[in-house]
Amino acid sequence: CGIFAYLNYNVPRERREVLEVLLNGLRRLEYRGYDSSGLALDADLPGSAAAAALVYDGAPPLVFRQEGKIENLVRSVYSEVDEKDVNLDATFTVHAGIAHTRWATHGVPSPKNSHPQSSGPADEFLVVHNGIITNYEVLKETLILHGFTFESDTDTEVIPKLAKFVFDKAHDEKGDVTFSQVVMEVMRQLEGAYALIFKSPHYPNELIACKRGNTLILGVNELSGQTSGKSFHNVKPLTANGKPKELFFSSDLCAIVEHTKNYLAIEDNEIVHIKDGSVSILKFDPEKEKPASVQRALSV
Ligand code: GLU
Repeated sequence: CGIFAYLNYNVPRERREVLEVLLNGLRRLEYRGYDSSGLALDADLPGSAAAAALVYDGAPPLVFRQEGKIENLVRSVYSEVDEKDVNLDATFTVHAGIAHTRWATHGVPSPKNSHPQSSGPADEFLVVHNGIITNYEVLKETLILHGFTFESDTDTEVIPKLAKFVFDKAHDEKGDVTFSQVVMEVMRQLEGAYALIFKSPHYPNELIACKRGNTLILGVNELSGQTSGKSFHNVKPLTANGKPKELFFSSDLCAIVEHTKNYLAIEDNEIVHIKDGSVSILKFDPEKEKPASVQRALSV
């Protein structure tokens, strides 16, 4: 029923801060109604080169799902984090987190039916979804024939599994595939209404959102850097022109306006790809092999 995502770029943020931004986003969406919630955060490999460079390097994400109130999710996140000895002080200059409040349409409210839904045990693709996939039964049968096992009773679970199927196939055939090519192929197969956000350890520090029917908003907060607050003091750009910024996705403007007034309502069939802190928007056309790129201005 509600989607929220956060990506910081060239801005050091503790994992705790990212977690709180996501949880507060979900709290803003509570009024819409929901029966369960969940989120995914970046993990780190202690002592790895990536940890030293403060960027996420594709380790399987940390995923939390819970039934009932957001506060149930909050409790279970903090107790799991304690149990698994996850370092909440770990700092990343880039971090891509996704979160969801669910209003069940297919499958009872339960942790396994909560989102993010996953491609399988390694969480190679994670998806949060608002809406209904009307052809999920056919897709599910086909994916089962290809060896996939389903964990949930949701319509949503076909989406991350389809993404993994497309990814693996493209790898076998071509050797390489971009995140937006994977999502475009997934969109080609989906029927129904949806707003989706994809996160994958195959594409660390990237996020993709797309929609048909349901509302989805992108917010961009460009930070001047090195001016205020401990968080982005002395930030060295990761790329020559990489300005520190925070990017948000939400199904509702009310969860974005407290962070930024620069936002964009994503249109049907648009695929928004965030990579290296830049936003590119592609227009999906089922008739065409390749999507056209679109220029859109943010409202200020
Ligand atoms: N149809 C999906 C489910 O039941 C998403 C529902 C929603 O929009 O929250 O899991």
